[in-house]
Amino acid sequence: MKRILGWVLGSVLTLGSPAFAASPATAAAPLMRILIKAGAMSESKGGDVDITLSIPDVEFPAGGTFLKIGTRVPGMVRSQSVRAMAVSDASGPARMVLHGAASSLAWQTTRALEGDVTVHYLIRAENVPLAAGGPAVQLRVDGNGFSSQGDMIIATPQIQTPYRIGIEWDLSAMGAGAMGVSSYGDGNVEIPAGPIARLGSIVLMGGVMQRYVSGPFEAVWTGAPNFDPRPAMQWVARLHHWMSGFWRSASEPPYRVFLRFDPMNAGTGAALTHSFIATYGKGVTGENLKPILAHEMTHTFTASDEMQKWYNEGIAVYYGSTLLTPWLAGLTPTDQFLAHLNEVAATYYTDVKRSLPESQVLPNFWKDTRIRILAYDRGGMYFAALNHMELEASGGKHLIGYPIRAMNARIEAGQPLSEDLWLGLLRRDLGPAGPALHHELLSGGLIVPSSGAFGPCFRRVVRKIPMFDLGFAMKSLPLFGPKIIQGLRPGSNAAKAGLRNGDQVSYAAALDDVQSNVHETLTLHVTRAGRAFTMTYLPRGKLVDAYQWERIAGVPESACKAPYRNTLAATRDWLAKKISPAETRR
Ligand SMILES: [Zn+2]
Repeated sequence: MKRILGWVLGSVLTLGSPAFAASPATAAAPLMRILIKAGAMSESKGGDVDITLSIPDVEFPAGGTFLKIGTRVPGMVRSQSVRAMAVSDASGPARMVLHGAASSLAWQTTRALEGDVTVHYLIRAENVPLAAGGPAVQLRVDGNGFSSQGDMIIATPQIQTPYRIGIEWDLSAMGAGAMGVSSYGDGNVEIPAGPIARLGSIVLMGGVMQRYVSGPFEAVWTGAPNFDPRPAMQWVARLHHWMSGFWRSASEPPYRVFLRFDPMNAGTGAALTHSFIATYGKGVTGENLKPILAHEMTHTFTASDEMQKWYNEGIAVYYGSTLLTPWLAGLTPTDQFLAHLNEVAATYYTDVKRSLPESQVLPNFWKDTRIRILAYDRGGMYFAALNHMELEASGGKHLIGYPIRAMNARIEAGQPLSEDLWLGLLRRDLGPAGPALHHELLSGGLIVPSSGAFGPCFRRVVRKIPMFDLGFAMKSLPLFGPKIIQGLRPGSNAAKAGLRNGDQVSYAAALDDVQSNVHETLTLHVTRAGRAFTMTYLPRGKLVDAYQWERIAGVPESACKAPYRNTLAATRDWLAKKISPAETRR
């Protein structure tokens, strides 16, 4: 089974930017245009993307940082290349001073900019080699096409006033049938007035692409996935319709999935505006991609960049990665839901870092697979535990979706979210037991949902499962630079396989994926004394007690979803009201 890693609402540059409040002035906001032009490109040779921004009504002070672009995400061995940056206004070219940081570039203007400003630059579309897993959001080329998160390709003007934004494509030189698609639509689109920073968290894909379209749902990809994505995309389209009802989304907005290749961490994804990126590659099929598809889609209904990993990822794991919502929607059979639920539980309970306090997660997120994964699966178990507590405390009336919808309502109303607010909702529904469980989560206590947490068809059992154990120190696999084995433990499977301290290794496996499958082996490419060879072993160690759930014989299938009946009825009602004439005709 495949795994997930979500870069949630991850704008590389704009995280934490203040919420934008619409005002009457936004109706008359000026129109900024972005022209994206590209010629033929290939995975081996890459190609240039030529970008022109035309920004009217600018009043920007001398000395200010006018433009910013993301150039590198964790895992990339070097930065993307941006060339020939030129900025001008009615007074002619303006000289820019370039500032480079580890993962971004910024251009500071040496004089004030006034009126109509034009920005032009070239960005190299190529596949920068990866040395480790990172978020799949950088500019990359698959087949005759490119894709990127907005702020890795658009040098974003640091202007705070609202603009309408026109995204325009000129891809005629890419070949017959080439088109551009963004999170806001196919081809040229105009986005209503709002902050320019919105561009950071959209996806852009251009080239000769394959598409699957169903009503407001669309999936696009370039290159050649190792499986036919259409059946899985049809499944996602149905799930999106159902989730719109489940989360009582105000509308069912157009929604897009962008598929692309990931040579390092295939099967991961990134949730962005009205859309997500999912990656294909080694070991990925339409079937095993479903947990990540459900996970990322859950984000687009519930995540907030004001909340921490435990909230955003916990909710997405609980509802998505376990396949709980697809199961409730009738899109996934009961045994598959149970299998994925147990995968999440096993990964958490066999994680040697399972006692790590939540405060240590973010500082070490990309450095250590075991910490990265923990944030997800522990969060998932936390929401499962809370779900059952809500059910019991309310006498069967509601579930954990109840306070989550209260948080969603605040997002839709443009109001801020906070951990305190969440704690207040838990206290309201659960009394002191809610905040007490939350404290356990934050302090690294073991989170154990009750036996009946997943309904009357399943019960909790303890199984002996081997701990995830590389057999050597995690610091042997740094994000950047050579990977040299250190801290090899005698007796570990790695030592038994013949690995030695000082061996230089590389690997092309997604460690997140290896960790989440108790049977999955790890292959290391070893260089020792000038000799290169591969070594394969099972990165597992001592047996530990792990909680799992099993199907209770004799409880009929028809009873399994009983605790969810109120939620399911409300979802059905919502969907019945929201069916559009176009959908009725189909
Ligand atoms: Zn996620």
